[in-house]
Amino acid sequence: MSATLLTQLAEAIATNAVRVVDLTQTLRPSTPVIQLPPPFAPSNPFTITEISHYDERGPGWYWNNLSMGEHTGTHFDAPVHWVTGQHYADGFTDTLPVQRFVAPACVIDCTKEVEADERFVMEPSHIEAWEKQHGKIPAGAWVLMRTGWSKRGDSPAFLNGKEDGPHSPGPSTAAVTFLVNERDVNGWGVEAVGTDHGQAYAFEPAFPAHHLMHGAKKLGLASLCNLDQLPPTGALLITPPLKIEKGSGSPLRVLALVAG
Ligand code: MN
Repeated sequence: MSATLLTQLAEAIATNAVRVVDLTQTLRPSTPVIQLPPPFAPSNPFTITEISHYDERGPGWYWNNLSMGEHTGTHFDAPVHWVTGQHYADGFTDTLPVQRFVAPACVIDCTKEVEADERFVMEPSHIEAWEKQHGKIPAGAWVLMRTGWSKRGDSPAFLNGKEDGPHSPGPSTAAVTFLVNERDVNGWGVEAVGTDHGQAYAFEPAFPAHHLMHGAKKLGLASLCNLDQLPPTGALLITPPLKIEKGSGSPLRVLALVAG
């Protein structure tokens, strides 16, 4: 390994031979926040209040105070977010090995399926069909479910809450089990507000993308966008969460490096 490789990468980024794609939704008061039914405690929404704006409160500077839950907007799920991952000393935002924040991505396009059925459930058969075309998912890769869901923006259709809970796509228990046990992924990322299917409270186990992924020390990414700008393989994701002491996750900027 020589420094030449990094020099070449810097040159490629400067000349756009390697594109930097922003997979992040803009954080603002209208950012949708996951809604839990009673009696579960709710997350704060995103709020921003001015400290000063080149005025008598601070004539030379502009800055704001922020408030939000850790799982707001485009955000990172650490293993300790779920009860199944609670015993991992290196499963917090401040203790995870930083190497895991730079990893390749496999993008599985489910856009057509989700257009036909907003409650689409990804099964192992979809992953196998993808691998037939693009090759085996390598150990340590992110698997991202591209659905077009991010195009719903901050509208009510993004959370898409109904009487029986949210109607939004996600993986089956069998699909998550396959990615964890057979592919040893780095983590699982989606465009919807959470990594699990909207009806996953009724899955066995409930919320498999949380229960099984975090139980195996895998990571999560939610509310991603611009997945349509990524190739099925070959993108490199940069996903460091805020270094919150004993954090369960955090909003973050997600960048992808894409060749060509
Ligand atoms: Mn989350």
